[in-house]
Amino acid sequence: MSTNQPLVINGREINCPMCGHDRFWTRKTLMNSRGASFFNFDWANKAADNFICDECGYVLWFLKR
Ligand SMILES: [Zn+2]
Repeated sequence: MSTNQPLVINGREINCPMCGHDRFWTRKTLMNSRGASFFNFDWANKAADNFICDECGYVLWFLKR
């Protein structure tokens, strides 16, 4: 499941920091999933939102609190 949408954080529309593109698709990643277990921190069980640039593939991570 993916969407192609603008990324809005706190009311500001964010462009890709690498290429300046303004469309992203999203996925959720559990921080305690296999492969992320080396993140041995308090937020290890949190879910992260990934926004992936539709143009260059750069991944932005946002941790939910
Ligand atoms: Zn980009």
